Amino acid sequence: MTLATTTRTTCPYCGVGCGVLASTLEDGTVEIQGDPLHPANLGRLCSKGSALGETVGLDGRLLHPVVDGKQVSWDEALDTVSERLQTIIQEHGPDSVAFYLSGQLLTEDYYVANKLMKGFIGSGNIDTNSRLCMSSAVAAYKRALGSDTVPCSYEDLEIADLLVIAGSNAAWCHPVLFQRISKAKELRPDMKVVVIDPRRTATCDLADLHLPVKPGSDAYLFNGLLNYLKQHDKLDWRFIEQHVDGFADALQAAKTSSASIPAVAAACELPESDVAEFFRLFAQTERSISFYSQGINQSSSGTDKCNAILNCHLATGRIGKPGMGPFSITGQPNAMGGREVGGLSNMLAAHMDIDNPSHRDLVSRFWKTDRLTTTPGRKAVDMFKDLGSGKIKAVWVLATNPVVSLPEADAVKKALEQCELLIVSDIEQQTDTTRHAHVLLPALAWGEKSGTVTNSERRISRQRAFLPAPGEARADWWMIAEVAKRMGFAEAFDFNSAADVFREHAALSGFENNNLRDFDISALATMSDSQFEQLKPVQWPVNEAAPKGTARLFTEHQFNTANGKAKMIAVDPRLPANHCDIEYPLVLNTGRIRDQWHTMTRTSRAPRLAAHMPEPVVEIHPMDAATWQLKDGALAELTSRWGRLIGRVNHSNSQRPGSVFVPIHWNSQFAALARVATLVNAVTDPLSGQPELKQTPVSIRAFNAE
Ligand code: SF4
Repeated sequence: MTLATTTRTTCPYCGVGCGVLASTLEDGTVEIQGDPLHPANLGRLCSKGSALGETVGLDGRLLHPVVDGKQVSWDEALDTVSERLQTIIQEHGPDSVAFYLSGQLLTEDYYVANKLMKGFIGSGNIDTNSRLCMSSAVAAYKRALGSDTVPCSYEDLEIADLLVIAGSNAAWCHPVLFQRISKAKELRPDMKVVVIDPRRTATCDLADLHLPVKPGSDAYLFNGLLNYLKQHDKLDWRFIEQHVDGFADALQAAKTSSASIPAVAAACELPESDVAEFFRLFAQTERSISFYSQGINQSSSGTDKCNAILNCHLATGRIGKPGMGPFSITGQPNAMGGREVGGLSNMLAAHMDIDNPSHRDLVSRFWKTDRLTTTPGRKAVDMFKDLGSGKIKAVWVLATNPVVSLPEADAVKKALEQCELLIVSDIEQQTDTTRHAHVLLPALAWGEKSGTVTNSERRISRQRAFLPAPGEARADWWMIAEVAKRMGFAEAFDFNSAADVFREHAALSGFENNNLRDFDISALATMSDSQFEQLKPVQWPVNEAAPKGTARLFTEHQFNTANGKAKMIAVDPRLPANHCDIEYPLVLNTGRIRDQWHTMTRTSRAPRLAAHMPEPVVEIHPMDAATWQLKDGALAELTSRWGRLIGRVNHSNSQRPGSVFVPIHWNSQFAALARVATLVNAVTDPLSGQPELKQTPVSIRAFNAE
C-alpha cells in the first residue's frame, strides 16, 4: 500500500505527550509510529499510542449539530446556544451559566472558552475534568513555590539516583515515561526506585523497595521523612536559611504527627524496617526525584500530601538542580495547557489569579473588557452540585463525559436531566452525557483538529490534522468564538485559525513584561502561520531570555513569592473523609488500566486494546475473597452510601487486604451498572477541590442475576 502523507503530531492520551508520526494510506487507513525526533518519547509508543490508527473511524460519530433532538444547521445551533445562554444570564445573572472543559481539549480551545466565560460573560464558572487529576498538585505548587510551576524535565528522571514514585502506576498510566525510567535503571543499576502505593502494581516490577501504605496515610510518611532528615542532620541549612520560609512550623508539625520510625510505621501500616530503608535512601541520595500523581492528588487532603512531599525537597535544597525535584505528573494530554490559559475556575489566563487585583487589571486591559469576573467560579464537583440544586441553570460540556467520571455520578446524571440547558460538544453521538443534551455540537477528533498541547514537563507540542473534517464537525475554539460573536463580542473573538488563538495566548503571557510568573511564552507570540505549522516541541518559559525554552526551573532558587523564598507548609495529616465500618468494610480504590483511556469513547474502538481487560473487574485479595465467598471470575456487587456497581471478581495478591480496586473506564453502554464513579462520595480537598476518588468505603457480595 502506498503512503499518501505522513504528519508529525502528538498522542491524545496521557500527559507524557509522545510525538507520533501518522501516515494516511491510499485506502484511508492510518499507520502510526513513534516520532524519533520528539524529545518526550524519542520514537517510543505504548499500546494505546500504537493503536491510535485503529480508533479513527467514523462509526458512532456526531457529524451534525442537533437541537432538541433535530438535526439543524450550524447557524441555527449557534443562534440557539447564544440566545438561550443570554436569556438565562439576563434572568439569573452570569453565574447561572457554566462551562465544563477537558484535558483532552487543545490549548486554543481552552483559551477561547476561558476568555468568553471569565472575560466577557463575567463569571468564573469554568472548570475542567483536570480538576479530578492534578488540581491538588497545582494548589501545592502555588503554596510552596508561589506559582504553578513543575520544576523538572523527563531527563531528570533518567539521571536521578533515587526515584520515589508515589501514588502512580506509571507502568500503565505513563508507559513511555516508565520505559525511559526502566532503561535508565538498566544502564545504571545503582539507581534506586521506591514505589509508594497500597497496591502492588506493574510499576513495582522496577522497585527496589515497595511500600504498600495504608490508603490515604502518605502525609504521615513524608512528615516522618522530614523529621528523620532533621534528626540525622541531612538538611541543607544554608538553602533553608537563604531560600525557604516556614521551616520551623513544618518541622514541628512533622514531629507531632510522625515522631519516630515506629510511629510512622504504625500510621502507615508498614514494616518499620521498610520505612527506615526508605528514609535512609532519601537521606543519603542527593539526586532524588519525587514523582507523584493521582494516588497523592485524588484525596480530601491531596494538597497537604503534595506539600508534605515538597517540604522534603525544600528542606534538602533538592529542587532546580539536575536529577532533583518534586515532579507532579499530569494524567491527561493537555492538563498542563489548560492550566496555562486559566482552565481552572480560580485562575486567569497565563497563570494569573482571579483573586489578584493587578492580575485582573492586566488581563482586563489585554482583553479590552470591563466585564472580567472578580470572583473565582465553582470548581468541578461544586459546579455540578449547583446545577443539581438549580443555582446554575445551564452548562456547556466540552470533550468530557461527567456522567461517567464525576463522583456521585448518579447525582450528576440527575442534574443534567433536570437542568434548563445542557450543551455538549463531542465527537460521539451517544455517550452517557450526550444523551441528555438539548444542544449537541459536532467536534473535530484527534487527527482532524489542529493546535497545541503541553505535557507534564511543560513541553508545548503541536497536534496536527491529517484527516479531513468529517460531516459538519468543527473545532471547539471555533464554535465558542462563534457563540461569543453572537453574544455581542465579535471584536474580541475575531479568530480565524488556531494559530491566531495561540499568538494571542502567547502575547498575553508576556504582556507588560510581567515575568514574575514563570509562564512566559511571549517569544512565540509573533510566529507566522507557517512558523506555527512548523513549531517544534518546546518547554516553557520561551521568552527573550530563553528563546529555545527552559528545561529546568528555579535554578537560581528564586521562587515566585513576594520575597522570592519558597514556603514549607505545616502539614497536619488527615485520613480519608469517609471511614470503613461494619456496613462498608472495604476501601475502594479507582484508577486507570493499561489499555483503556478515560470513558473508553476512543479506545474501545480498537479490539486489541479491549483484549487486555474485556470487562470491568473488581480486584480483591484472595483472603478477602474467601471472607466474602467470592469466586474468581464470578460477578460481585459493590455498594457504597452513594451507588452500586457490578463487576467481575479478580483474585489478586497485588491488592492490599481490606481494599478493592475497580478501573474508571467503563460506561453504561457496556453494562447498566458499570460506572465506578457512582460509588464515590463527592467530598473534595478544601483547597484544590479535587475529589477523593481513591478511598471510598464499600461493601461487597456475590451477585446473582436471578
Ligand atoms: Fe500516548 Fe501516553 Fe502512551 Fe505516550 S505514553 S503513546 S502519550 S498514551
